Amino acid sequence: MQSLPEMPSHQALIGGTWVATRSTLDMEAPSHGKTIARIARCQEEEIDQAVSAAGRAFSGRLDEWSRWTARRRSEWLLAFAAAIEADHERLAALECADTGKPMTQARGDISACARYFRFYGGAADKLHGETIPFENDFAVMTLREPFGVCGQIIPWNYPAQIFGRCVAAALAAGNTVVLKPAEDACLSVLRLAELAVQQGLPPGALNVVPGLGREAGAALAAHPHIDHLSFTGSPETGTLVAQAAAVHHVPVTMELGGKSPQVLFADADLEAALPFVVRGIIQNAGQTCSAGSRLLVQRDIADEVLGRLVEKFEALRCDTGEADADCGPLINARQKAKLEARLEAARADGIRTLARGRLVEGAPAGGHFVVPQLLVDIPAGHEVLREELFGPVLAVQVFDDEAEALALANGTDFGLCAGIWTRDGGRQLRLAKGVRSGQVFVNNYGAAGGIELPFGGVGRSGHGREKGFEGLKSYTRIKTVAIHHG
Ligand code: NAD
Repeated sequence: MQSLPEMPSHQALIGGTWVATRSTLDMEAPSHGKTIARIARCQEEEIDQAVSAAGRAFSGRLDEWSRWTARRRSEWLLAFAAAIEADHERLAALECADTGKPMTQARGDISACARYFRFYGGAADKLHGETIPFENDFAVMTLREPFGVCGQIIPWNYPAQIFGRCVAAALAAGNTVVLKPAEDACLSVLRLAELAVQQGLPPGALNVVPGLGREAGAALAAHPHIDHLSFTGSPETGTLVAQAAAVHHVPVTMELGGKSPQVLFADADLEAALPFVVRGIIQNAGQTCSAGSRLLVQRDIADEVLGRLVEKFEALRCDTGEADADCGPLINARQKAKLEARLEAARADGIRTLARGRLVEGAPAGGHFVVPQLLVDIPAGHEVLREELFGPVLAVQVFDDEAEALALANGTDFGLCAGIWTRDGGRQLRLAKGVRSGQVFVNNYGAAGGIELPFGGVGRSGHGREKGFEGLKSYTRIKTVAIHHG
């Protein structure tokens, strides 16, 4: 086992105590394929203990969490944000080694994680209900209350960011949390949990239960004493999780995949647009739910755009996360094999790779690298236009007019994000209204991660919203109180 300096705890955090499990899981570094850590493998028993601890913390039987005022929660979240910032480089090094993402991106993810705790820390004491005008002899108000125990199942592609997005909002609203990180990458999450304990978070308020999806994840999704469930991951697993939660009528937030379009009209500012088009697909080696994985380009500028993109793609370099090149490896051998098989099938269907990046000489042979690629000559309705490939692969389509652009943009079952590039104000608004997705970016893509901006999907991309103030409200429910005063 190749050891990392100062590894976080490899146990599960349950009721404020680090607990060893009967068996463990080895963690492999995507950049070279070597084992770098061993984590706990929680099963039904540990999930049950964690849900019970979270329930007791919420009800006030385990500790004082449920008695903390909104202001005190706010102060804790803000102090925790500072603790994350103080541990920034160590957290970034863990995220980089564990996910294989370039160090610069890992650093950005840790900063975003801290920003979530700042944002929701600032918002915790500004969340309130309303009074409602009703009959003269009534006073009616709504109370905005936490759900109770929030189950959270998160993926491997942005462990620290998604930890921030889900945990900060749930705690800010007064809930307690049982979080199941992904078996492929969770070292930053374990370190964050350590920091939370050191920072004096009451026992049971946050429980972290690493393990396999089909064991720990399934047990959490099916647990009868969960009050809310937030799932981020693939649509297929999302269906299983939603079915399990439905048995006990547990409300769910589903953040699933995407096949998001970037739409380039002939009047677009290409200087501004093309770097976003490239970054939108190579960030985290394309393993991003909101990746701009389809490029729709108007015919008048198609040759120019493709010429410029060929240059850019051929200049892209793949290397280990630590080398901080343009693109790191995919998360594991399975994802690599799956993507390569799909690319092979695409080639057999006549799809051309117009340009590709290069693997840096000397990159470790055990790394799960797939170089960035630009695909053209794609038959309408082909799988590479409809399905999430989850790799640095950009699929290009050409359109003639606005109506066709909109039809192509809406031509998948997903609906997470869209980028619209045009100087025409009317068209900006028409497209923003017409595109079927949770976020639309005009003359930018991603708005620099915008943790303040509500995020979520339509259709196969999921439902419910995380991020921003809307995300905080998602972790509460409304109680109506009608007082008859005669
Ligand atoms: P996944 O669905 O396999 O795993 C996600 C999480 O679910 C992991 O923690 C996993 O252990 C757990 N899990 C797996 N099987 C389970 C089961 N039967 N019951 C309960 N939990 C189970 O997805 P992945 O491969 O880890 O991530 C890639 C996918 O996630 C992509 O499709 C991507 O688009 C999507 N994603 C979406 C967002 C978003 O915010 N919309 C963010 C990141 C990733």
